[in-house]
Amino acid sequence: MMKKVIYADHAATTPLSPAAYEAMLPWLLDNYGNPSTLYSLAREPRKAIERARETIADVIGAFPDEIYFTSGGTEADNWALNGIAFSQPTKKSRIVTSNVEHHAILHTCSFLERMGIDVCYLPVDEVGLVSLDVLRKALSIPTTLVSIMLANNEIGTLQPVQKLASLAHEHGSLFHTDAVQAVGHIPVNVQELEVDLLSSSAHKFNGPKGSGFLFIKRGTKIEPLLHGGSQENGYRAGTENVAGIVGMAAALMEHRQKMLEEMNYLTLLADTLISELRAAGLDFKVNGAAKRIPGSLSISFKHGDGEMLLHRLDLLGTQIATGSACDSNDAVVSHVIEAIGASDEYTHGTVRITLGMDNTTEQVQMIARQINSILGN
Ligand code: PLP
Repeated sequence: MMKKVIYADHAATTPLSPAAYEAMLPWLLDNYGNPSTLYSLAREPRKAIERARETIADVIGAFPDEIYFTSGGTEADNWALNGIAFSQPTKKSRIVTSNVEHHAILHTCSFLERMGIDVCYLPVDEVGLVSLDVLRKALSIPTTLVSIMLANNEIGTLQPVQKLASLAHEHGSLFHTDAVQAVGHIPVNVQELEVDLLSSSAHKFNGPKGSGFLFIKRGTKIEPLLHGGSQENGYRAGTENVAGIVGMAAALMEHRQKMLEEMNYLTLLADTLISELRAAGLDFKVNGAAKRIPGSLSISFKHGDGEMLLHRLDLLGTQIATGSACDSNDAVVSHVIEAIGASDEYTHGTVRITLGMDNTTEQVQMIARQINSILGN
């Protein structure tokens, strides 16, 4: 029997929703036909994929033919950057991004730099925001693509994507946003955001792992991701993950229906946790902008050790993340915490607590008590 845990790392992944699970079953068991084949067993899976495409398009304000299914957020991010960078073989591409992006963007940028493409990394302010002026300056050099995330996965900061995208367009650049932490949790509409490309991942909104999509605005010139069959209009070859795609659409529908309620609930839970920690007299700072993903908390405890806190909480049955990536000997402050320029006495004590709909008020009170029992005097 698994130990009963308090799971508070929903930015890492979320549990599969029962509705998504139910929706997936027929495509794993009875309707196993390959959607690309010509006989009748293929008809239903093919229809299911197109229904899912319509649902997802409807939720984010896109046309169905602008939704391309991928194996998740990493693949969508890689495709957006590589696909645009290599779409103009006669011209050298330039990409502008920020230094708080997920590694799916940053490591793709490093690869592109090795391939001779220019990449400019924008700094952020102390709450993790990219400023319009900083972007404007960067765009004085002709730029193919700007890629700035919608919601940060460590500190939850929401970027002013519509304003950034509009500025990029004024300078003739395309705009991509990594919306992996946002889709399903806050209203995301590609027309309102004015983006040309947008990445998303099902397992961040209670869908299955290994399923995601890239929105590509009609008319955008992009290189295919995978070469092979004619799936996804010839842009992403490979037999489709039918159950994953259907489960993703079902999970997204559920979130759409309850979004406002969820946003209010998660904000309340996060506020409760913060006030309990304050009441306990602990010295800490909450990282990120005032406008953050609901339920997302990056907390830096003064003179704390985030790694130690994570492991001590784990022993008590509570699962959270740190703000730092560590190698075996040396705790390294994460690139996001570094980028916001937090002071040394706080940075090493950073943890990320990301709450979800399966969390309760009693659980966040328990987390606060546990943290106090570890860090309090
Ligand atoms: N982008 C962001 C902002 C993320 O938080 C993640 C996952 O943590 C990814 C991309 C990668 O998504 P996936 O796990 O679906 O590959």
